[in-house]
Amino acid sequence: MTSRITFADLGLDAALLRAVTDTGYTHPTPIQQQAIPEVLAGHDLLAAAQTGTGKTAGFTLPVLHRLLQEPKRSKPGQPRCLILTPTRELAAQVEESVQTYGKHVPLTSLVMFGGVNINPQISALRKPVDILVATPGRLLDHVGQRTLDLSQIEILVLDEADRMLDMGFIHDIRKVLKLLPTQRQTLLFSATFSDEIRKLARGVLRDPREVSVARRNTAAESVQQSVHLVPQHLKRDALSHLIRRNDWQQVLVFTRTKHGANRLAEKLMKDGIGAAAIHGNKSQSARTRALSGFKNGEVSVLVATDIAARGLDIDQLPQVVNFELPNVPEDYVHRIGRTGRAGAEGAALSLVDKDEIKLLGAIEKLIKRPIDRLPMPAFDLSAPAPAAHSEPRPPRRAPRPRSGPAGTSDTPSSEGQRRRRSRGKRGGNAASADNHRPQAARAALLGR
Ligand code: AMP
Repeated sequence: MTSRITFADLGLDAALLRAVTDTGYTHPTPIQQQAIPEVLAGHDLLAAAQTGTGKTAGFTLPVLHRLLQEPKRSKPGQPRCLILTPTRELAAQVEESVQTYGKHVPLTSLVMFGGVNINPQISALRKPVDILVATPGRLLDHVGQRTLDLSQIEILVLDEADRMLDMGFIHDIRKVLKLLPTQRQTLLFSATFSDEIRKLARGVLRDPREVSVARRNTAAESVQQSVHLVPQHLKRDALSHLIRRNDWQQVLVFTRTKHGANRLAEKLMKDGIGAAAIHGNKSQSARTRALSGFKNGEVSVLVATDIAARGLDIDQLPQVVNFELPNVPEDYVHRIGRTGRAGAEGAALSLVDKDEIKLLGAIEKLIKRPIDRLPMPAFDLSAPAPAAHSEPRPPRRAPRPRSGPAGTSDTPSSEGQRRRRSRGKRGGNAASADNHRPQAARAALLGR
């Protein structure tokens, strides 16, 4: 796989090659080497590849090429190619790739997802759009409003199909499939080939070619993984301490819930650390702002849920922190795949409470190696929960919602099951305030 194949060898249109050259990429990644020729030849494709492998260009480039080859003009509201993604962030990033690679060709693209005003999307659909990148729910809204007609689709791409199934989009996907011509080319990308994915593939693909690249849990060997055993109630202070002590300038922190992400970002800001939370409850503009602040260095810490982080195109992050371990071991692999990309050095640190030891075991089993338990440097782990000592206990215990507030979870099935104990105390109280406030000005930059 370390051959000297170039993009030009793959037979892509010259205008696309120019765009690739503009990006600075010289050699196709393994998934691109495998996928591009199959798509160019018109085959359906079942591809196993995760974020970070270059999969987006692996389908975007040949899709653009094929649309160029057929000199058909798209009509308003009738796209020729549909790319379905599970999340808004991924949709936005895929469409950005379409624009990047399609910048020298006369094809148009549009991205649409929920959570934002539908009217600008309706206006955009009044003009011809060749490539539509969408999340399933908003797509169906448009079909329902008759602002979109999918009968002219020539190519369908299901990106991160496993994630779409995890997120319960199967019914929406089936509805969308019924609206498409049966005569079409279909590409299905998934991190894994589970039984469910195979079943979906059988239903949507015709005589597909199968390609796959190394899973990230083998590719992420360059990531230095470690664990600090930290009681849940001390994790926020511990993280704040580690960020300052190590002078981390760019760290992506994963929490299990949206609520947890907010609280953690708030606590870090109180400690004078530039932080922002990114999750599904944030407005699109808040998420975009947080992400660009993180990319341009205004924000040192981006706190994200798994779903929100999925598909974030942030290259070569030096440091990832698991504030809590994910319930699903596979998610650990996705998370640490955010660092050590393209052979770069990266580190992934997990803060693990004793209640999470079982989850840690499952992760170690999946990645087939133990993760080093390192002592927490210069931090008193025996300290009692700061809030418990500096604040009186809440006066009443009931009434309390039985299963937590609705809509605080990105993935109802997994996150809804998590334990909600030990979240009652508020961080950022007098005990956790400290006199390290070097980044207060940066923190103030962040709108929430
Ligand atoms: P993806 O797996 O599509 O999310 O891509 C992961 C990252 O790899 C993105 O930042 C891409 O811009 C980058 N990338 C895509 N193709 C190449 C390539 N041939 N060489 C180097 N980087 C690439």
